[in-house]
Amino acid sequence: LRTLFGNNAPVIPRTCGAIDRRFCSRPERTLEGKIALITGAASGIGKATAAKFIANGAKVVIADVNHELGQEAAEELGPDARFTPCDVSKELDVSNAVDFTVSQHGRLDIMFNNAGIACTTPASIVDLDLDRFDRVMAINVRGVVAGIKHASRVMIPNRAGSILCTASVVGILGGMAQLTYSLSKSSVIGIVRSASPELGRHGIRINCISPFAIPTRLVMDEMNHHYTGVGNQRIVDIIHGAGALEGTSCEPIDIANAALYLASDGAKYVSGHNLVVDGGFTVFKSLGFPAPDQVN
Ligand code: NAD
Repeated sequence: LRTLFGNNAPVIPRTCGAIDRRFCSRPERTLEGKIALITGAASGIGKATAAKFIANGAKVVIADVNHELGQEAAEELGPDARFTPCDVSKELDVSNAVDFTVSQHGRLDIMFNNAGIACTTPASIVDLDLDRFDRVMAINVRGVVAGIKHASRVMIPNRAGSILCTASVVGILGGMAQLTYSLSKSSVIGIVRSASPELGRHGIRINCISPFAIPTRLVMDEMNHHYTGVGNQRIVDIIHGAGALEGTSCEPIDIANAALYLASDGAKYVSGHNLVVDGGFTVFKSLGFPAPDQVN
């Protein structure tokens, strides 16, 4: 091991001969040689995940509707990143992104259906804008389904693969976001559960991640619309202040770490799961009663 890794050689416990040696590999390169395609990776969660995957030995194709940002992200992430233009609401674009990945790298091991948009039209169902509803569903739901469909097409012959999707805490709890957006994210959780049995029979795992609020472009645009004229720093403080875990806040890297785990062999028996990354927010609801020392 010292010959192979020098001073970074892993310390293998004496008992290691008795356990599976796959679990003794260097922990920091869990995706060595893997090929990943990430939609919506020009910024935010997708870009952070692309960087994390590359740092762990993967080659990543960034598929995004924003050509300029996507190209910039690929250049910034270096030779293991490539960009391909893709609007996930168009099935042909998604199919082409999958085929581009296979043509460049020979196969697809990890598909991360992450692209999404917010919905800033009125929250009330009475005032619901159904044209906007169709657009949000075309990207957040149909785009995810297209990604699963075309990733499966190339993964099934290999009898292996890991598919990830970005859902949200607002898909679990009602009343936390605009109705259309919440519904789109509930659907992602449902799609993962529904597709898991069939894909499992082909050796393919499928999971989703439900992040808490993170001040990415998508959320900042939506919040600026909601809190007109409040200013970006105040909005970031509002988002971070809403969390349930003191002393820290939800960041893109937290979702990238969750994606790394689900994509890796460390999660080889995890499928149909919704990994909630919310600091405990969705399992906690204060009754709102005042503390005893506030009652006289
Ligand atoms: P972001 O705005 O930084 O990234 C979204 C990316 O998706 C952008 O690069 C954008 O160009 C791309 N995109 C938009 N429409 C597309 C389309 N039709 N085809 C291809 N790409 C498209 O925001 P983010 O927060 O990183 O969002 C990533 C995902 O995370 C989204 O699905 C979002 O709904 C979800 N999410 C975000 C939060 C949060 O608080 N930020 C919480 C839960 C879930």
